[in-house]
Amino acid sequence: MVEGATTTMANATDIEARHGIGVFALRGITLVRGEGAVVWDAQGRAYIDCTSAHGVAILGHCHPAVVAAIREQAGRLINCTGIFANDQRAALMQELAEVLPAGLDRFFFCNSGAEAVEAALKIARVATGRRGVVAARGGFHGRTMGALSATWEPHYRKPFEPLVRGFRHVRYNDPAALAEALTGDVGAVLLEVVQGEGGVRLGDPEYLRTAQSLCRERGALFILDEVQTGFGRTGRMFALEHYGLEPDIVCLGKGIAGGFPMGAVALGPRVSNLSVGQHGSTFGGNPLACAAARATLRTLRELDFPRQAAEKGRYFLERLRELQKCKRRVREVRGLGLMIGIEMRVKVAPILQALQEKGVLALNAGPTVLRLLPPLVIGYEQIDAVVAALDGVLE
Ligand SMILES: *Cc1c(COP(=O)(O)O)cnc(C)c1O
Repeated sequence: MVEGATTTMANATDIEARHGIGVFALRGITLVRGEGAVVWDAQGRAYIDCTSAHGVAILGHCHPAVVAAIREQAGRLINCTGIFANDQRAALMQELAEVLPAGLDRFFFCNSGAEAVEAALKIARVATGRRGVVAARGGFHGRTMGALSATWEPHYRKPFEPLVRGFRHVRYNDPAALAEALTGDVGAVLLEVVQGEGGVRLGDPEYLRTAQSLCRERGALFILDEVQTGFGRTGRMFALEHYGLEPDIVCLGKGIAGGFPMGAVALGPRVSNLSVGQHGSTFGGNPLACAAARATLRTLRELDFPRQAAEKGRYFLERLRELQKCKRRVREVRGLGLMIGIEMRVKVAPILQALQEKGVLALNAGPTVLRLLPPLVIGYEQIDAVVAALDGVLE
């Protein structure tokens, strides 16, 4: 590496701290390259990436199929507004319909998870004519004003109130509380199948099924936010498959395009279309994102990554539970597929920093939960290395 480049890169944290707006707790390293489950910093140090850039790099960094699709499409057509059809967008619609539960076969494409949630909320209002939305405590749905209204965490919400009216938050996994909140003015119930940011909390199958049938009975739409759980993360293509759920709307994002920015909503048969102009997005459904998403979906299916995630996740959980037996600081290990939470009896921030020094990048989910969202391509030896690093850090 040329000396000048090293100096510039080494300063990236300082530059971002000075020119950013302060919303990220910078970890002090500068990432410049990635391949599979590994990323490298500006000094050439390798890290096993159990963040997947917040769950995004579902097939690992720079997966050859995704890179090839982006390169190919970049030379052909990058932008195509929604008033013109596009071959990549049309094909993606058909391919997504093939992997979602029957009937979820109409799509709106956007550029992020929060935008997917915004679209879902607008669609639910028009479809039901009702203003109320019930969401869960501990839920996370994004940071734009509508999505934020559904998000629970007061630290994210409080400074921005008043938010959109009509949102109620009920205890997660408590069917009675949901039944009570689901009054005649409620147009939508919005839930995660596994709460991600809220601490990797698994939805109880009975709770989720009850939520679905209550929605049916009372004329509300059942919306699942699969932004984090989708595309193989939990050991199925979508987490809803674990429990046979058939939501009216599914929100997608994060891993959908193998790392390229994209969001989507899928609509089921109980949901009517909007009319022209009621919603839209300049960049949504651009051919580049759609081509990346098609390559991602094809690769996920060809190599059955959802099954791989299930098997690797089981192994990971087993190893972590062994570790837990001799680590007093670990309160609980839980997860589904490669979405794993380790609840600590202590604050998790110093543990994340120590792990980073040992060459492992991980996330938190709240102050005391260490969250692992490795790419689904992670190898068993890499899983062992992560467990060994954690063992060392918790010594
Ligand atoms: C990350 C996330 C979002 C928001 O996605 P952005 O792309 O950051 O807007 C929404 N819902 C869930 C469940 C998420 O994990």
